[in-house]
Parts: sequence; C-alpha cells; structure tokens
Amino acid sequence: MDRDQLRSALEFYRDIGIESLYKRTPSAVALRVPAPVESSSLANTIQEPMPIIEIPSIAPAGDTLSKISADIGDCKRCRLCEGRNKIVFGSGNEKASLVFVGEGPGADEDAQGFPFVGRAGQLLTQMIDGTASKEGINISRPDVYICNVVKCRPPENRAPQPDEMEICGQFLFRQLMAIQPKAICALGATAAKAVLGTKEGVTKLRGNWHKWNDIPVMVTFHPSYLLRPYNQNAKREAWEDLKKVLHFVYD
Ligand code: SF4
Repeated sequence: MDRDQLRSALEFYRDIGIESLYKRTPSAVALRVPAPVESSSLANTIQEPMPIIEIPSIAPAGDTLSKISADIGDCKRCRLCEGRNKIVFGSGNEKASLVFVGEGPGADEDAQGFPFVGRAGQLLTQMIDGTASKEGINISRPDVYICNVVKCRPPENRAPQPDEMEICGQFLFRQLMAIQPKAICALGATAAKAVLGTKEGVTKLRGNWHKWNDIPVMVTFHPSYLLRPYNQNAKREAWEDLKKVLHFVYD
C-alpha cells in the first residue's frame, strides 16, 4: 500500500469513528480485547494520519512473565506513564492456580512497585488468608498471583480510560496466558470489563462463573469498595465469592 492509499484508508477509519490502530506482529493470536475505545467526533478538517501505536505480539510462543515484564520495559505506550513512579507488574506465585486481577495501582503500589500493598491490599490478604484458613484450604496470599488491568497509577486514582485499558490490557492477557491459572478472580468493575468485555456491574456479575478463553472467571467487589463502612452486605457477598473460588481451585 503506498502512502496515498494508506492515508485514505486511515481517513476512512477516522470517518467511521476509529481513532487508533494497533500494529501487531504476525505471530499475534486473537484474544478477547476489552471494551472498544470510545470514539469521539473528529473534526473533518484534521488532515494528519492517526498515530499507529506499536504494541507487542499477544502471547508469542513460549511467553513467560519475565519476557512480558521485559517487553513492558520503561513503557510509555499510554498517558499513564506520565505520572507514575513505578510500573506495578504483578506479584505472587508465577505458577499460581488462581490469579486476582484488580484495576490499577494506587499511591502505595506506585511508590513500592507491588500490587495491593495499601489498605485495600491488606484487606485482600486478610480475605485470602482468612477464608482459606476457615475453609481448611492450605494456601495463603503468596500462593496466588495478583496483578492489575493497568500497570501504572491513574492520576487522582481515577478509573483507567478505555484506550489505556486496551493498550495495557494486552500485557494482562499475556500474563494470564503465561500463567494459565485454573481460575481468575476479577476484583471490581474495571477488571470485570477488561477480562469479560462487559459493561455489567459487579452486583449483577458476582456469584456466578463466567469465562475468559475457557478459564473460569469469578467477579467480586474490589477490596477498596469493601473498605467503605456502609458496605457490610457487599463484604459478606465478597467472602462468599471467595469461598466459592478457593474451593473450586484448591479442593
Ligand atoms: S499503563 Fe501500561 S501501557 Fe500505559 S504506560 Fe503503564 S505499562 Fe505502559
């Protein structure tokens, strides 16, 4: 395709509301992608072609967490790089049977470079360790793997935007493909949206099994939501969800 053909193809995509194109290497395999990027109205007068953001191949053969981390490098693929201190890749057992997916790093995580280390993280640890011990399941937090949809802290702790979720979500999907857990637990609406591609809220999704690439997915409340004092019912429901997940994975 010559330059003029490329320009008219890009203008066609722009006219139908697609603002960004992602170039993948030929070995990329099709995976579920998060909710589509919202299109905004573009001025007809804009003449410059859209930027093409290069992202790595999804799940290349022999992918490992260390390769994914190396591919992320000093990532500047989305605007969230601007305010971050540390990229929060994920932590835990690289061969875990259970992966928890949260939304994105907060202030503590951004400072330390590890996921779920602040107040919400302490609650998550209590939930995993406490539920496992009550249910007679011999695991604790280091036995699972924990990561987020976006690896850099969104400013003011806002929710990640659809394009940020789409770009960074490729790394999440590679992490999930590399680990191949027996189940995934999506914490909160952003994780549910990224993994299941749904706009349904947590209240509707929780308590039942869903699937991502044949891996069972349980959605439950994000621990930071559970920290709010008026959410006692949600707390009870989250504990129920976790019980279900732990028995499914470890029985
Ligand atoms: S959020 Fe993800 S895609 Fe965006 S800069 Fe950070 S690592 Fe890169």
